[in-house]
Amino acid sequence: MKLFENTNTPTNLMDVVDTPENGPIKGYVHSVESFGAVDGPGIRFTAFLQGCRMRCQYCHNPDTWNIGVGDEMTADQVLDDAERYKAFWGDTGGITCSGGESLVQIDFLLDLFTKAKARGISTCLDTSGNPFTRDQPWFGKFEQLMAVTDISLVDIKHINSAEHKKLTGFGNENILDMIQYMSSHNCDMWIRHVLVPERTDYDNYLTELGDYIKTLHNVQKVEVLPYHTLGVKKYHELGIAYPLEGIEPPTPDRIKNAEKLLHTADYTGYKTWKPGK
Ligand code: SF4
Repeated sequence: MKLFENTNTPTNLMDVVDTPENGPIKGYVHSVESFGAVDGPGIRFTAFLQGCRMRCQYCHNPDTWNIGVGDEMTADQVLDDAERYKAFWGDTGGITCSGGESLVQIDFLLDLFTKAKARGISTCLDTSGNPFTRDQPWFGKFEQLMAVTDISLVDIKHINSAEHKKLTGFGNENILDMIQYMSSHNCDMWIRHVLVPERTDYDNYLTELGDYIKTLHNVQKVEVLPYHTLGVKKYHELGIAYPLEGIEPPTPDRIKNAEKLLHTADYTGYKTWKPGK
């Protein structure tokens, strides 16, 4: 696949992911982080899986976009690597799969989390929800995945679907559908929202998002992530035009305002959360 080819056209995942019929399932891993402190509860070993179809204007990992490239690893290879850090995990830590968008590689993710749970490792999925569909066989795999996922970090990029499309290239209907599934099946969640001036930092949308989150069950934490410009250098190095050129990070006042409108202080479950599955 060509570097930075636009992969927005839906791809048959079976084209790019090994299946049991073809031998051990392998995932395409962009990189790993041994001691992640911001990728879910506790200290976590985070595998950043390669591939994402969205094109968020603020994405600071454009090098994770392409599907079907990266280091090929089996679930056991990832878990053997992760378990070297098990002593640091305590009651709440474990492994997180982030990206890119982990759900792009759902076969590998299901294999990885199933094997992790068999080893007694806590599992956390960091997702934007973009690949979610109720079409089979994908949905059946997602249901199995949720049964072996202790908690999901769900990024809601924009509550308004038209604005979501402008910001990421895709609407949010299937993403909100995924969140409804998680809510109605008692899947623990952290909700995260990136605050971007001129894109998401509007009181009406933040209020709407705050009201929406209130309708959900099992939300352990709500986080406002202030937009930052650390990714700009990568765009320049990769020769891609940076879509948010000239937009500065939000001010402390606007961050506080967003936290108020999203009622972040009301979601305290994360303070005593323990993996329960
Ligand atoms: S979903 Fe994540 S990896 Fe994909 S474009 Fe958006 S920020 Fe980047």
